[in-house]
Amino acid sequence: MTDRQIIHGRLQEAALKITDNFCYSCYKVVEGQYCPDCRTDDFMRHLSGVGVEYGTEWVIEHLLTTRLTPVDGEEMFEELLDECYPEVKIGEIVYSVSQVLKKMDPLYFQMGASENLQHLADDGVLYEYGGEYYQMSDLEEMLDNIESA
Ligand SMILES: [Zn+2]
Repeated sequence: MTDRQIIHGRLQEAALKITDNFCYSCYKVVEGQYCPDCRTDDFMRHLSGVGVEYGTEWVIEHLLTTRLTPVDGEEMFEELLDECYPEVKIGEIVYSVSQVLKKMDPLYFQMGASENLQHLADDGVLYEYGGEYYQMSDLEEMLDNIESA
């Protein structure tokens, strides 16, 4: 299993933990593995105050979007550029490389920013979900809190 699969597994467990079993036929929250009335084990997930749906993906999305803040990919790329390259002097005025690149070649800048995010996700520093990138350390802290609750 890759780190990404392990984290996704933990997210699924967390999604199950913060939700209740919900029997659609009887339309109620159910304790235990089977519905005491109709004996089904095919439950929807019920998240108090949010809703009822099948599956855990919507719960995972809710966890990530309400408890974490996605990183700002452009800002991260700016910092990376300005750490790697010295400032540029044009005439008497000094510019940071990120400023110059953003102005001179915005398309290249955007591509660089998204490649940087992808690279950090491949390295396990960030976690990509639904087109947003989250700090893995924030995500693990959130999971630790849910798991130990
Ligand atoms: Zn039932």
